[in-house]
Amino acid sequence: MIGIFGGTFDPIHYGHLRSALELKELFELEHVRLIPCAQPVHRDLPTTSALQRLEMLQLVTQNQNDFIVDAQELQREGGSYTFDTLIALRSNYPDVPLLLFVGSDAFNNFTTWFRWQELFDLAHVVVITRPNAALNSLNEFFKMRLTNDKQILKNHLAGHLFFQQITQLEISATAIRGMIATRKNPRFLLPDAIIDYIYQHQLYF
Ligand code: ATP
Repeated sequence: MIGIFGGTFDPIHYGHLRSALELKELFELEHVRLIPCAQPVHRDLPTTSALQRLEMLQLVTQNQNDFIVDAQELQREGGSYTFDTLIALRSNYPDVPLLLFVGSDAFNNFTTWFRWQELFDLAHVVVITRPNAALNSLNEFFKMRLTNDKQILKNHLAGHLFFQQITQLEISATAIRGMIATRKNPRFLLPDAIIDYIYQHQLYF
């Protein structure tokens, strides 16, 4: 199975990296694909260039096998749609179950996503929950696809909904950008190599 972890990654931090590694181990994944979005359709434009966000991802993932950085959304014209990304991955990996990881906040708006029902033809959806997270009640479409059996995910290429609780670290890219703008030290929230990159390129000041 392959995991798909999308985001703005502006910048990537230990909250992302720890969760992605934990998910890789929990689901015994071949790898997790970190997919930076070009133009997020659900939030404001990032302040950093797409190339800079990509370079930061590449810095942290070089020399290891757990994560693959996938720049496909940066190479496509226009907005980033998960639908297009999954179509491309499904054609590259016709025989491998795909797990699309979605934060519980994002999942609460899932039915507004472009061709959201068809996403289940292409991948499983794994909602990442925090302890005590508030979740909207599930509609019939979701209820029919819900499973709590990881084996079902392994045995099918797509089509199921799974909820996975993980220990999320209280780290956000917004808070890190705020710290840098106010000259506070963000050390230990993200890799040193990324902090060096941020200062070298004078990001977020
Ligand atoms: P921002 O503060 O700019 O909104 P962010 O830190 O939330 O950014 P994103 O790039 O928007 O990061 O998030 C990418 C994915 O990582 C999303 O699915 C999000 O839910 C998840 N994520 C973000 N922060 C954490 C964290 N601390 N622990 C686990 N997952 C996280």
